[in-house]
Amino acid sequence: MLASKLYSPTLREIPSDAEVVSHQYMLKAGMLRKNGGGIYTFLPLGRRVIRKIEAIVREEMDNTGSQEIMMPIMQPAEIWHESGRWSAYGPEMFKLEDRHHNQYCLGPTHEELITTLVRNELRSYKQMPLILYQMQNKYRDEIRPRFGLMRSREFVMKDAYSFDVDEAGMHKSYELMYDAYMRIFDRCGLQYKPVQADSGQIGGSRTHEFMAFASAGEADVVTCKHCDFAANVEKAVPGTLTTAKEEPQPLEKIATPNCSTIEDLAAFMKIPVEKTIKAVAFVVDEDKIVLCMVRGDHEVNDVVIQHLVGGNTIEPANEDDLKAHGLQPGYMSPINADTPDNEKFFVFVDPTAMNVCNGVTGANEAGYHFTNVDPQRDFKSVQVETIRMITQRDVCPVCGGEIEFAQGIEVGQVFELGTKYSDSLQATFLDQNGKAKPYVMGSYGIGVTRTMAAAIEQYHDDKGIIWPAAIAPYEAVIVPVSTKDEDMVKIAETLYAEIKALGVEVVLDDRNERAGVKFNDADLIGYPVRLTVGKKSAAEGTVELKVRRTGEEKVITIAEAAAMTCAVIGDLKSKNM
Ligand code: ATP
Ligand code: MG
Repeated sequence: MLASKLYSPTLREIPSDAEVVSHQYMLKAGMLRKNGGGIYTFLPLGRRVIRKIEAIVREEMDNTGSQEIMMPIMQPAEIWHESGRWSAYGPEMFKLEDRHHNQYCLGPTHEELITTLVRNELRSYKQMPLILYQMQNKYRDEIRPRFGLMRSREFVMKDAYSFDVDEAGMHKSYELMYDAYMRIFDRCGLQYKPVQADSGQIGGSRTHEFMAFASAGEADVVTCKHCDFAANVEKAVPGTLTTAKEEPQPLEKIATPNCSTIEDLAAFMKIPVEKTIKAVAFVVDEDKIVLCMVRGDHEVNDVVIQHLVGGNTIEPANEDDLKAHGLQPGYMSPINADTPDNEKFFVFVDPTAMNVCNGVTGANEAGYHFTNVDPQRDFKSVQVETIRMITQRDVCPVCGGEIEFAQGIEVGQVFELGTKYSDSLQATFLDQNGKAKPYVMGSYGIGVTRTMAAAIEQYHDDKGIIWPAAIAPYEAVIVPVSTKDEDMVKIAETLYAEIKALGVEVVLDDRNERAGVKFNDADLIGYPVRLTVGKKSAAEGTVELKVRRTGEEKVITIAEAAAMTCAVIGDLKSKNM
Protein backbone atom coordinates (compact mmCIF):
# COMPACT_ATOMS: atom_id res chain seq x y z
CA MET A 1 0.00 0.00 0.00
CA LEU A 2 1.20 3.46 -0.83
CA ALA A 3 0.82 5.92 2.03
CA SER A 4 -0.23 8.58 -0.47
CA LYS A 5 -3.26 6.47 -1.35
CA LEU A 6 -4.10 5.22 2.14
CA TYR A 7 -7.31 6.72 3.53
CA SER A 8 -6.21 7.37 7.08
CA PRO A 9 -6.92 11.01 7.87
CA THR A 10 -4.86 11.73 10.97
CA LEU A 11 -6.00 14.25 13.58
CA ARG A 12 -3.90 16.86 15.34
CA GLU A 13 -6.36 17.49 18.15
CA ILE A 14 -7.94 14.67 20.06
CA PRO A 15 -11.68 15.20 20.70
CA SER A 16 -12.29 15.89 24.37
CA ASP A 17 -14.75 13.01 24.77
CA ALA A 18 -12.04 10.48 23.97
CA GLU A 19 -10.99 9.60 27.51
CA VAL A 20 -8.84 6.53 27.09
CA VAL A 21 -5.66 6.04 25.12
CA SER A 22 -7.06 3.40 22.76
CA HIS A 23 -9.89 5.69 21.71
CA GLN A 24 -7.57 8.67 21.36
CA TYR A 25 -4.99 6.90 19.23
CA MET A 26 -7.57 5.19 17.01
CA LEU A 27 -9.08 8.60 16.23
CA LYS A 28 -5.73 10.32 15.91
CA ALA A 29 -4.25 7.68 13.61
CA GLY A 30 -7.30 7.75 11.35
CA MET A 31 -8.48 4.25 12.17
CA LEU A 32 -11.87 5.08 13.63
CA ARG A 33 -14.54 7.75 13.44
CA LYS A 34 -17.53 8.32 15.68
CA ASN A 35 -20.98 8.52 14.10
CA GLY A 36 -23.02 8.79 17.29
CA GLY A 37 -22.99 7.70 20.91
CA GLY A 38 -21.25 4.33 20.98
CA ILE A 39 -21.38 3.85 17.19
CA TYR A 40 -18.34 4.00 14.97
CA THR A 41 -16.95 3.58 11.48
CA PHE A 42 -13.76 1.62 11.00
CA LEU A 43 -11.54 3.30 8.45
CA PRO A 44 -9.15 1.11 6.41
CA LEU A 45 -6.42 0.76 9.06
CA GLY A 46 -8.94 -0.03 11.79
CA ARG A 47 -10.81 -2.43 9.57
CA ARG A 48 -7.60 -4.31 8.85
CA VAL A 49 -6.94 -4.79 12.56
CA ILE A 50 -10.46 -6.14 13.07
CA ARG A 51 -10.00 -8.52 10.17
CA LYS A 52 -6.71 -9.76 11.63
CA ILE A 53 -8.31 -10.45 15.00
CA GLU A 54 -11.26 -12.10 13.28
CA ALA A 55 -8.89 -14.28 11.25
CA ILE A 56 -7.13 -15.50 14.40
CA VAL A 57 -10.45 -16.17 16.11
CA ARG A 58 -11.80 -17.96 13.03
CA GLU A 59 -8.71 -20.12 12.64
CA GLU A 60 -8.70 -21.21 16.28
CA MET A 61 -12.45 -21.82 16.29
CA ASP A 62 -12.26 -23.87 13.10
CA ASN A 63 -9.38 -25.87 14.59
CA THR A 64 -11.66 -27.00 17.40
CA GLY A 65 -14.12 -28.37 14.86
CA SER A 66 -16.58 -25.54 15.44
CA GLN A 67 -18.50 -24.44 12.36
CA GLU A 68 -19.18 -20.88 11.30
CA ILE A 69 -22.69 -19.73 10.50
CA MET A 70 -24.34 -16.34 10.24
CA MET A 71 -27.52 -15.58 12.05
CA PRO A 72 -29.66 -12.48 11.57
CA ILE A 73 -29.01 -9.38 13.63
CA MET A 74 -32.73 -8.72 13.74
CA GLN A 75 -34.51 -11.27 15.90
CA PRO A 76 -38.26 -11.82 16.31
CA ALA A 77 -39.61 -10.97 19.76
CA GLU A 78 -41.49 -14.29 20.06
CA ILE A 79 -38.38 -16.34 20.79
CA TRP A 80 -37.41 -13.93 23.54
CA HIS A 81 -40.91 -14.13 24.98
CA GLU A 82 -40.55 -17.91 24.90
CA SER A 83 -37.33 -17.84 26.92
CA GLY A 84 -38.69 -15.18 29.25
CA ARG A 85 -35.90 -12.73 28.43
CA TRP A 86 -37.89 -10.16 26.39
CA SER A 87 -38.47 -8.16 29.56
CA ALA A 88 -35.77 -9.79 31.71
CA TYR A 89 -33.00 -8.52 29.44
CA GLY A 90 -33.98 -5.00 30.42
CA PRO A 91 -33.37 -1.64 28.79
CA GLU A 92 -30.08 -2.72 27.21
CA MET A 93 -32.02 -4.39 24.42
CA PHE A 94 -32.78 -2.33 21.31
CA LYS A 95 -36.36 -3.09 20.33
CA LEU A 96 -38.06 -2.24 17.06
CA GLU A 97 -41.33 -2.75 15.26
CA ASP A 98 -42.07 -3.41 11.60
CA ARG A 99 -44.91 -1.82 9.57
CA HIS A 100 -47.25 -4.61 10.65
CA HIS A 101 -46.49 -3.92 14.31
CA ASN A 102 -44.49 -7.11 14.75
CA GLN A 103 -41.77 -6.67 17.33
CA TYR A 104 -38.09 -7.41 16.97
CA CYS A 105 -34.85 -6.75 18.73
CA LEU A 106 -31.35 -6.09 17.49
CA GLY A 107 -29.49 -9.10 18.83
CA PRO A 108 -27.53 -8.36 22.02
CA THR A 109 -26.66 -12.10 22.07
CA HIS A 110 -28.03 -15.16 20.26
CA GLU A 111 -28.93 -17.96 22.71
CA GLU A 112 -32.62 -17.77 21.80
CA LEU A 113 -32.04 -17.58 18.11
CA ILE A 114 -29.62 -20.46 17.87
CA THR A 115 -31.62 -22.72 20.17
CA THR A 116 -34.82 -22.21 18.20
CA LEU A 117 -32.81 -22.53 15.00
CA VAL A 118 -31.48 -26.00 15.74
CA ARG A 119 -34.31 -27.41 17.83
CA ASN A 120 -36.17 -28.88 14.87
CA GLU A 121 -33.17 -30.32 13.10
CA LEU A 122 -30.61 -31.26 15.70
CA ARG A 123 -32.68 -34.25 16.70
CA SER A 124 -30.31 -37.11 17.43
CA TYR A 125 -27.57 -37.72 19.95
CA LYS A 126 -25.50 -38.84 16.95
CA GLN A 127 -25.31 -35.23 15.72
CA MET A 128 -23.64 -34.05 18.92
CA PRO A 129 -21.40 -32.58 20.22
CA LEU A 130 -21.94 -29.58 17.97
CA ILE A 131 -20.43 -26.11 18.23
CA LEU A 132 -21.67 -23.35 15.94
CA TYR A 133 -20.30 -19.82 15.89
CA GLN A 134 -20.59 -16.53 14.11
CA MET A 135 -18.79 -13.22 13.93
CA GLN A 136 -21.18 -10.35 13.84
CA ASN A 137 -22.31 -6.97 15.07
CA LYS A 138 -24.10 -7.01 18.39
CA TYR A 139 -26.32 -4.27 19.78
CA ARG A 140 -26.61 -3.21 23.38
CA ASP A 141 -28.09 0.06 24.56
CA GLU A 142 -25.42 0.48 27.22
CA ILE A 143 -26.38 2.90 29.95
CA ARG A 144 -22.98 4.56 29.59
CA PRO A 145 -21.39 3.91 26.20
CA ARG A 146 -17.85 5.13 26.68
CA PHE A 147 -14.17 4.58 26.13
CA GLY A 148 -14.62 4.16 22.38
CA LEU A 149 -14.57 0.52 21.37
CA MET A 150 -14.36 -0.68 24.95
CA ARG A 151 -18.04 -0.06 25.62
CA SER A 152 -19.92 0.76 22.48
CA ARG A 153 -23.53 0.17 21.52
CA GLU A 154 -22.69 -1.58 18.27
CA PHE A 155 -19.70 -3.91 18.43
CA VAL A 156 -18.32 -7.02 16.80
CA MET A 157 -18.61 -10.20 18.81
CA LYS A 158 -17.65 -13.74 18.02
CA ASP A 159 -20.34 -15.81 19.66
CA ALA A 160 -20.33 -19.59 19.81
CA TYR A 161 -22.84 -22.08 21.19
CA SER A 162 -22.26 -25.72 22.08
CA PHE A 163 -24.81 -28.52 22.17
CA ASP A 164 -24.08 -31.69 24.08
CA VAL A 165 -26.02 -34.74 25.17
CA ASP A 166 -25.03 -34.49 28.82
CA GLU A 167 -23.15 -32.48 31.44
CA ALA A 168 -19.90 -34.33 30.86
CA GLY A 169 -20.10 -33.40 27.18
CA MET A 170 -20.77 -29.78 28.08
CA HIS A 171 -17.70 -29.70 30.34
CA LYS A 172 -15.61 -30.97 27.44
CA SER A 173 -16.97 -28.37 25.04
CA TYR A 174 -16.36 -25.69 27.66
CA GLU A 175 -12.76 -26.77 28.07
CA LEU A 176 -12.28 -26.91 24.32
CA MET A 177 -13.47 -23.31 24.03
CA TYR A 178 -11.51 -22.20 27.10
CA ASP A 179 -8.31 -23.58 25.57
CA ALA A 180 -9.09 -22.03 22.20
CA TYR A 181 -9.59 -18.66 23.94
CA MET A 182 -6.19 -18.98 25.57
CA ARG A 183 -4.60 -19.52 22.16
CA ILE A 184 -6.58 -16.66 20.62
CA PHE A 185 -5.59 -14.10 23.24
CA ASP A 186 -2.01 -15.39 23.27
CA ARG A 187 -1.81 -14.91 19.53
CA CYS A 188 -3.35 -11.44 19.79
CA GLY A 189 -0.43 -10.66 22.09
CA LEU A 190 -2.51 -9.70 25.12
CA GLN A 191 -1.51 -9.95 28.75
CA TYR A 192 -4.59 -11.55 30.23
CA LYS A 193 -5.96 -14.11 32.62
CA PRO A 194 -9.14 -16.18 32.76
CA VAL A 195 -10.95 -15.37 35.99
CA GLN A 196 -13.99 -16.81 37.76
CA ALA A 197 -16.99 -14.69 37.00
CA ASP A 198 -20.66 -14.11 37.54
CA SER A 199 -22.99 -15.29 34.81
CA GLY A 200 -25.15 -12.14 34.78
CA GLN A 201 -27.88 -11.95 32.13
CA ILE A 202 -26.79 -15.06 30.26
CA GLY A 203 -27.43 -17.41 33.18
CA GLY A 204 -25.96 -20.83 33.88
CA SER A 205 -23.33 -22.13 36.24
CA ARG A 206 -19.59 -22.26 35.51
CA THR A 207 -18.20 -19.23 33.76
CA HIS A 208 -14.86 -17.52 33.21
CA GLU A 209 -14.08 -14.06 31.95
CA PHE A 210 -10.89 -13.44 30.03
CA MET A 211 -9.47 -10.27 31.47
CA ALA A 212 -6.83 -8.20 29.71
CA PHE A 213 -5.02 -6.21 32.36
CA ALA A 214 -5.03 -2.44 31.82
CA SER A 215 -5.58 0.60 33.99
CA ALA A 216 -8.49 1.65 31.76
CA GLY A 217 -10.27 -1.64 32.47
CA GLU A 218 -13.72 -1.32 33.95
CA ALA A 219 -13.61 -4.62 35.82
CA ASP A 220 -11.86 -5.23 39.12
CA VAL A 221 -10.02 -8.49 39.33
CA VAL A 222 -8.61 -10.13 42.42
CA THR A 223 -5.79 -12.64 42.14
CA CYS A 224 -3.82 -14.60 44.70
CA LYS A 225 -0.05 -14.24 44.89
CA HIS A 226 0.31 -17.83 46.07
CA CYS A 227 -2.27 -20.02 44.34
CA ASP A 228 -4.04 -19.76 40.98
CA PHE A 229 -7.17 -18.16 42.39
CA ALA A 230 -8.34 -15.33 40.12
CA ALA A 231 -11.82 -13.85 40.10
CA ASN A 232 -13.85 -10.85 39.16
CA VAL A 233 -14.32 -9.06 42.51
CA GLU A 234 -18.07 -9.40 42.18
CA LYS A 235 -17.58 -13.19 42.19
CA ALA A 236 -14.98 -13.43 44.98
CA VAL A 237 -16.55 -14.52 48.26
CA PRO A 238 -14.59 -13.02 51.16
CA GLY A 239 -14.17 -14.89 54.42
CA THR A 240 -15.90 -13.91 57.66
CA LEU A 241 -13.88 -11.63 59.91
CA THR A 242 -14.11 -11.88 63.65
CA THR A 243 -13.83 -9.10 66.18
CA ALA A 244 -12.31 -9.30 69.64
CA LYS A 245 -15.06 -10.40 72.02
CA GLU A 246 -16.31 -7.86 74.50
CA GLU A 247 -18.84 -8.06 77.27
CA PRO A 248 -22.17 -7.06 75.60
CA GLN A 249 -23.53 -3.81 76.96
CA PRO A 250 -27.19 -2.79 76.97
CA LEU A 251 -28.47 -1.16 73.77
CA GLU A 252 -28.60 2.60 74.04
CA LYS A 253 -30.04 5.28 71.76
CA ILE A 254 -27.91 8.38 71.39
CA ALA A 255 -28.23 11.66 69.55
CA THR A 256 -25.77 11.86 66.64
CA PRO A 257 -26.45 15.21 64.99
CA ASN A 258 -25.22 15.63 61.39
CA CYS A 259 -23.90 12.09 61.20
CA SER A 260 -25.48 10.69 58.08
CA THR A 261 -22.25 9.16 56.73
CA ILE A 262 -20.27 6.39 58.36
CA GLU A 263 -17.12 8.54 58.48
CA ASP A 264 -18.97 11.37 60.25
CA LEU A 265 -20.44 8.90 62.67
CA ALA A 266 -17.14 7.21 63.52
CA ALA A 267 -15.47 10.59 64.01
CA PHE A 268 -18.31 11.87 66.18
CA MET A 269 -18.35 8.72 68.31
CA LYS A 270 -14.54 8.53 68.37
CA ILE A 271 -14.63 4.88 67.32
CA PRO A 272 -13.01 3.01 64.42
CA VAL A 273 -15.32 2.51 61.40
CA GLU A 274 -15.02 -1.25 62.03
CA LYS A 275 -17.23 -0.66 65.06
CA THR A 276 -20.07 0.69 62.92
CA ILE A 277 -22.61 -1.28 60.95
CA LYS A 278 -23.62 0.40 57.74
CA ALA A 279 -26.92 0.11 55.88
CA VAL A 280 -27.36 0.20 52.10
CA ALA A 281 -30.77 -0.20 50.51
CA PHE A 282 -31.77 -1.27 47.00
CA VAL A 283 -34.89 -1.75 45.01
CA VAL A 284 -34.78 -4.89 42.89
CA ASP A 285 -37.10 -5.32 39.89
CA GLU A 286 -38.79 -2.08 40.92
CA ASP A 287 -40.83 -3.69 43.70
CA LYS A 288 -38.55 -5.49 46.14
CA ILE A 289 -36.94 -3.46 48.89
CA VAL A 290 -33.67 -4.86 50.17
CA LEU A 291 -31.85 -3.57 53.24
CA CYS A 292 -28.22 -4.70 53.42
CA MET A 293 -26.07 -4.42 56.54
CA VAL A 294 -22.29 -4.59 56.31
CA ARG A 295 -19.48 -3.48 58.58
CA GLY A 296 -18.73 0.23 58.21
CA ASP A 297 -15.49 -0.35 56.30
CA HIS A 298 -17.11 -2.74 53.80
CA GLU A 299 -19.15 -2.33 50.62
CA VAL A 300 -22.16 -4.31 49.47
CA ASN A 301 -21.83 -6.59 46.45
CA ASP A 302 -24.99 -5.80 44.51
CA VAL A 303 -24.49 -8.77 42.17
CA VAL A 304 -24.87 -11.05 45.18
CA ILE A 305 -27.99 -9.17 46.26
CA GLN A 306 -29.52 -9.60 42.82
CA HIS A 307 -28.90 -13.35 43.00
CA LEU A 308 -30.27 -13.64 46.53
CA VAL A 309 -33.47 -11.89 45.56
CA GLY A 310 -33.63 -13.39 42.08
CA GLY A 311 -34.06 -10.10 40.26
CA ASN A 312 -33.03 -8.58 36.95
CA THR A 313 -32.59 -4.94 37.79
CA ILE A 314 -31.13 -3.30 40.88
CA GLU A 315 -31.18 0.40 41.79
CA PRO A 316 -30.63 2.40 44.95
CA ALA A 317 -33.91 2.53 46.87
CA ASN A 318 -35.71 5.86 47.16
CA GLU A 319 -36.76 7.56 50.39
CA ASP A 320 -40.48 6.86 50.11
CA ASP A 321 -39.93 3.12 49.63
CA LEU A 322 -37.68 3.06 52.67
CA LYS A 323 -39.98 5.04 54.91
CA ALA A 324 -42.84 2.70 53.98
CA HIS A 325 -40.86 -0.04 55.74
CA GLY A 326 -40.02 2.01 58.80
CA LEU A 327 -36.53 2.87 57.55
CA GLN A 328 -35.10 6.34 58.03
CA PRO A 329 -32.60 7.16 55.22
CA GLY A 330 -29.18 8.00 56.65
CA TYR A 331 -30.07 6.26 59.92
CA MET A 332 -31.22 2.83 58.78
CA SER A 333 -30.92 -0.53 60.51
CA PRO A 334 -33.17 -3.55 61.11
CA ILE A 335 -33.87 -2.30 64.64
CA ASN A 336 -37.32 -0.70 64.82
CA ALA A 337 -37.95 -1.40 61.12
CA ASP A 338 -40.60 -3.68 59.61
CA THR A 339 -40.04 -7.41 59.94
CA PRO A 340 -38.74 -8.74 56.61
CA ASP A 341 -41.24 -10.87 54.66
CA ASN A 342 -38.58 -12.15 52.24
CA GLU A 343 -40.94 -11.49 49.34
CA LYS A 344 -41.17 -7.74 49.02
CA PHE A 345 -38.94 -6.70 51.91
CA PHE A 346 -35.61 -8.37 52.60
CA VAL A 347 -32.94 -7.72 55.20
CA PHE A 348 -29.51 -9.24 54.66
CA VAL A 349 -26.69 -8.97 57.17
CA ASP A 350 -23.12 -9.88 56.33
CA PRO A 351 -21.61 -12.42 58.78
CA THR A 352 -18.71 -10.07 59.49
CA ALA A 353 -21.22 -7.39 60.51
CA MET A 354 -22.96 -9.98 62.71
CA ASN A 355 -19.66 -10.35 64.61
CA VAL A 356 -19.35 -6.67 65.58
CA CYS A 357 -19.47 -6.30 69.38
CA ASN A 358 -21.01 -3.27 71.02
CA GLY A 359 -21.29 -1.59 67.64
CA VAL A 360 -23.08 1.46 66.37
CA THR A 361 -25.91 1.44 63.86
CA GLY A 362 -28.88 3.57 62.80
CA ALA A 363 -31.93 4.01 65.03
CA ASN A 364 -34.36 4.65 62.16
CA GLU A 365 -34.87 8.10 63.55
CA ALA A 366 -33.25 11.16 62.01
CA GLY A 367 -30.31 12.27 64.16
CA TYR A 368 -30.12 9.11 66.28
CA HIS A 369 -28.06 5.93 66.37
CA PHE A 370 -27.94 2.93 68.63
CA THR A 371 -24.75 2.10 70.42
CA ASN A 372 -23.72 -1.16 72.15
CA VAL A 373 -25.42 -3.01 69.31
CA ASP A 374 -25.09 -6.78 69.35
CA PRO A 375 -26.47 -7.90 65.98
CA GLN A 376 -26.93 -11.48 67.22
CA ARG A 377 -29.19 -10.09 69.92
CA ASP A 378 -30.66 -6.99 68.31
CA PHE A 379 -31.21 -7.78 64.60
CA LYS A 380 -34.44 -9.77 64.48
CA SER A 381 -35.55 -12.13 61.64
CA VAL A 382 -32.69 -11.09 59.37
CA GLN A 383 -31.02 -13.32 56.80
CA VAL A 384 -27.27 -13.74 57.29
CA GLU A 385 -25.45 -13.93 53.95
CA THR A 386 -22.01 -12.99 52.71
CA ILE A 387 -22.97 -9.82 50.87
CA ARG A 388 -19.82 -7.74 51.14
CA MET A 389 -17.15 -7.12 48.53
CA ILE A 390 -13.70 -8.53 49.07
CA THR A 391 -11.14 -5.84 50.04
CA GLN A 392 -7.39 -5.33 49.92
CA ARG A 393 -7.30 -6.33 53.58
CA ASP A 394 -8.82 -9.76 52.97
CA VAL A 395 -6.93 -12.97 52.23
CA CYS A 396 -7.32 -15.43 49.37
CA PRO A 397 -10.62 -17.28 49.81
CA VAL A 398 -8.94 -20.48 48.57
CA CYS A 399 -5.54 -20.67 50.28
CA GLY A 400 -5.53 -17.80 52.76
CA GLY A 401 -2.60 -16.22 50.94
CA GLU A 402 -1.98 -12.60 50.06
CA ILE A 403 -4.22 -11.19 47.34
CA GLU A 404 -3.81 -8.35 44.88
CA PHE A 405 -6.21 -6.25 42.86
CA ALA A 406 -5.97 -5.17 39.25
CA GLN A 407 -8.12 -3.56 36.60
CA GLY A 408 -9.19 -5.72 33.68
CA ILE A 409 -10.86 -5.35 30.31
CA GLU A 410 -13.21 -8.27 29.75
CA VAL A 411 -12.31 -9.41 26.25
CA GLY A 412 -14.17 -12.71 26.36
CA GLN A 413 -16.39 -14.91 28.46
CA VAL A 414 -17.30 -18.59 28.41
CA PHE A 415 -20.43 -19.99 30.06
CA GLU A 416 -21.81 -23.38 30.91
CA LEU A 417 -25.52 -22.87 30.36
CA GLY A 418 -26.76 -26.36 31.15
CA THR A 419 -30.37 -26.72 30.04
CA LYS A 420 -31.47 -23.16 30.84
CA TYR A 421 -32.36 -22.33 27.25
CA SER A 422 -33.19 -25.80 25.99
CA ASP A 423 -35.71 -26.14 28.84
CA SER A 424 -37.39 -22.79 28.36
CA LEU A 425 -37.37 -23.14 24.57
CA GLN A 426 -38.28 -26.84 24.62
CA ALA A 427 -35.34 -27.87 22.52
CA THR A 428 -34.75 -31.58 22.72
CA PHE A 429 -33.00 -34.45 20.97
CA LEU A 430 -33.51 -38.19 21.12
CA ASP A 431 -30.96 -40.08 23.16
CA GLN A 432 -29.70 -43.63 22.56
CA ASN A 433 -32.90 -45.04 24.03
CA GLY A 434 -35.12 -42.85 21.89
CA LYS A 435 -35.97 -40.66 24.86
CA ALA A 436 -36.38 -36.87 24.38
CA LYS A 437 -33.82 -34.87 26.36
CA PRO A 438 -32.91 -31.18 26.45
CA TYR A 439 -29.59 -30.13 24.93
CA VAL A 440 -26.90 -29.34 27.47
CA MET A 441 -25.49 -26.07 26.21
CA GLY A 442 -22.62 -23.64 26.52
CA SER A 443 -22.14 -20.15 25.14
CA TYR A 444 -18.87 -18.40 24.39
CA GLY A 445 -18.24 -14.76 23.45
CA ILE A 446 -15.25 -12.72 22.36
CA GLY A 447 -15.39 -8.97 22.00
CA VAL A 448 -13.49 -8.56 18.75
CA THR A 449 -13.64 -4.78 18.68
CA ARG A 450 -12.95 -4.58 22.41
CA THR A 451 -9.89 -6.80 21.90
CA MET A 452 -8.54 -4.21 19.47
CA ALA A 453 -8.95 -1.51 22.12
CA ALA A 454 -7.41 -3.73 24.80
CA ALA A 455 -4.30 -4.30 22.69
CA ILE A 456 -3.75 -0.54 22.41
CA GLU A 457 -4.40 -0.01 26.11
CA GLN A 458 -1.64 -2.50 26.82
CA TYR A 459 0.80 -1.50 24.10
CA HIS A 460 1.41 2.16 23.46
CA ASP A 461 3.79 4.95 24.35
CA ASP A 462 3.54 8.72 24.15
CA LYS A 463 4.12 8.59 20.39
CA GLY A 464 1.39 6.13 19.53
CA ILE A 465 0.37 2.53 19.20
CA ILE A 466 2.75 -0.43 19.47
CA TRP A 467 0.75 -3.18 17.80
CA PRO A 468 1.45 -6.82 18.50
CA ALA A 469 2.70 -7.91 15.05
CA ALA A 470 -0.11 -10.43 14.54
CA ILE A 471 -2.83 -7.80 14.61
CA ALA A 472 -1.02 -4.74 13.25
CA PRO A 473 -2.86 -3.14 10.32
CA TYR A 474 0.36 -3.44 8.29
CA GLU A 475 3.50 -5.20 9.39
CA ALA A 476 6.10 -2.80 8.07
CA VAL A 477 6.59 0.67 6.64
CA ILE A 478 9.33 1.92 4.37
CA VAL A 479 10.21 5.56 4.86
CA PRO A 480 12.38 7.28 2.27
CA VAL A 481 13.41 10.44 4.11
CA SER A 482 13.05 12.46 0.93
CA THR A 483 10.87 11.78 -2.09
CA LYS A 484 12.83 14.32 -4.07
CA ASP A 485 15.98 12.20 -4.01
CA GLU A 486 15.73 9.81 -6.94
CA ASP A 487 18.18 7.27 -5.48
CA MET A 488 16.23 7.05 -2.27
CA VAL A 489 12.97 6.65 -4.12
CA LYS A 490 14.42 3.91 -6.27
CA ILE A 491 15.82 1.98 -3.31
CA ALA A 492 12.55 2.36 -1.43
CA GLU A 493 10.49 1.17 -4.37
CA THR A 494 12.75 -1.84 -4.95
CA LEU A 495 12.56 -2.78 -1.29
CA TYR A 496 8.82 -2.31 -1.33
CA ALA A 497 8.47 -4.78 -4.21
CA GLU A 498 10.84 -7.29 -2.62
CA ILE A 499 9.19 -7.18 0.79
CA LYS A 500 5.72 -7.45 -0.70
CA ALA A 501 6.87 -10.47 -2.70
CA LEU A 502 7.80 -12.17 0.57
CA GLY A 503 4.19 -11.85 1.72
CA VAL A 504 4.84 -9.06 4.22
CA GLU A 505 2.09 -6.44 4.52
CA VAL A 506 4.06 -3.31 3.84
CA VAL A 507 3.36 0.38 3.33
CA LEU A 508 5.64 2.62 1.30
CA ASP A 509 5.49 6.14 2.66
CA ASP A 510 5.76 7.89 -0.69
CA ARG A 511 4.19 11.11 0.56
CA ASN A 512 5.97 14.32 -0.13
CA GLU A 513 6.27 15.12 3.56
CA ARG A 514 9.13 15.98 5.88
CA ALA A 515 10.90 12.94 7.34
CA GLY A 516 9.78 13.99 10.84
CA VAL A 517 6.12 13.86 9.83
CA LYS A 518 6.55 10.40 8.36
CA PHE A 519 8.39 9.10 11.41
CA ASN A 520 5.71 10.48 13.69
CA ASP A 521 2.94 8.88 11.65
CA ALA A 522 4.82 5.58 11.60
CA ASP A 523 5.05 5.65 15.39
CA LEU A 524 1.44 6.76 15.79
CA ILE A 525 0.06 4.04 13.50
CA GLY A 526 2.37 1.57 15.18
CA TYR A 527 3.91 -0.44 12.36
CA PRO A 528 5.97 -3.18 14.04
CA VAL A 529 8.95 -2.61 11.69
CA ARG A 530 10.19 0.58 10.06
CA LEU A 531 12.80 0.65 7.33
CA THR A 532 14.38 4.03 6.73
CA VAL A 533 16.02 4.82 3.42
CA GLY A 534 18.28 7.79 4.05
CA LYS A 535 21.05 9.87 2.58
CA LYS A 536 23.71 7.20 3.03
CA SER A 537 21.62 4.37 1.61
CA ALA A 538 22.71 4.77 -1.99
CA ALA A 539 26.39 5.33 -1.22
CA GLU A 540 26.74 2.66 1.45
CA GLY A 541 24.09 0.21 0.33
CA THR A 542 22.41 0.21 3.73
CA VAL A 543 19.07 1.03 5.34
CA GLU A 544 18.03 1.32 8.95
CA LEU A 545 15.65 -1.20 10.49
CA LYS A 546 13.75 -0.19 13.62
CA VAL A 547 11.57 -2.45 15.73
CA ARG A 548 8.71 -0.48 17.27
CA ARG A 549 8.18 -2.84 20.22
CA THR A 550 11.76 -2.97 21.43
CA GLY A 551 13.01 0.33 20.05
CA GLU A 552 15.96 -1.62 18.64
CA GLU A 553 17.60 0.03 15.61
CA LYS A 554 20.17 -1.47 13.32
CA VAL A 555 21.84 -0.66 10.06
CA ILE A 556 21.53 -3.50 7.57
CA THR A 557 22.44 -3.96 3.92
CA ILE A 558 19.82 -3.30 1.30
CA ALA A 559 20.43 -6.81 0.00
CA GLU A 560 19.40 -8.40 3.30
CA ALA A 561 16.64 -5.91 4.17
CA ALA A 562 13.66 -7.78 2.76
CA ALA A 563 14.57 -11.14 4.28
CA MET A 564 15.48 -9.48 7.58
CA THR A 565 12.15 -7.61 7.74
CA CYS A 566 10.32 -10.84 7.12
CA ALA A 567 12.38 -12.64 9.79
CA VAL A 568 11.89 -9.92 12.40
CA ILE A 569 8.13 -10.00 11.90
CA GLY A 570 8.11 -13.79 12.11
CA ASP A 571 10.14 -13.61 15.30
CA LEU A 572 7.79 -11.03 16.88
CA LYS A 573 4.76 -13.11 15.99
CA SER A 574 6.27 -16.30 17.35
CA LYS A 575 6.82 -14.50 20.66
CA ASN A 576 3.27 -13.04 20.60
CA MET A 577 4.89 -9.59 20.56
P1 ATP B 1 -19.65 -6.18 30.19
O1 ATP B 1 -19.73 -6.84 31.54
O2 ATP B 1 -18.33 -5.56 29.92
O3 ATP B 1 -20.81 -5.29 29.90
P2 ATP B 1 -20.82 -8.55 29.21
O4 ATP B 1 -20.39 -9.50 30.26
O5 ATP B 1 -22.18 -8.02 29.25
O6 ATP B 1 -19.78 -7.36 29.13
P3 ATP B 1 -20.90 -10.72 27.32
O7 ATP B 1 -22.36 -10.90 27.26
O8 ATP B 1 -20.11 -11.67 28.12
O9 ATP B 1 -20.57 -9.22 27.78
O10 ATP B 1 -20.36 -10.60 25.83
C1 ATP B 1 -19.19 -11.24 25.32
C2 ATP B 1 -18.10 -10.25 25.03
O11 ATP B 1 -18.54 -9.18 24.21
C3 ATP B 1 -17.55 -9.58 26.26
O12 ATP B 1 -16.62 -10.40 26.90
C4 ATP B 1 -16.93 -8.32 25.69
O13 ATP B 1 -15.62 -8.58 25.25
C5 ATP B 1 -17.81 -8.01 24.50
N1 ATP B 1 -18.72 -6.88 24.82
C6 ATP B 1 -19.81 -6.91 25.60
N2 ATP B 1 -20.39 -5.71 25.66
C7 ATP B 1 -19.65 -4.88 24.88
C8 ATP B 1 -19.74 -3.51 24.53
N3 ATP B 1 -20.72 -2.74 24.96
N4 ATP B 1 -18.79 -2.99 23.70
C9 ATP B 1 -17.80 -3.76 23.23
N5 ATP B 1 -17.67 -5.06 23.52
C10 ATP B 1 -18.57 -5.63 24.34
MG1 MG C 1 -19.40 -11.01 30.03
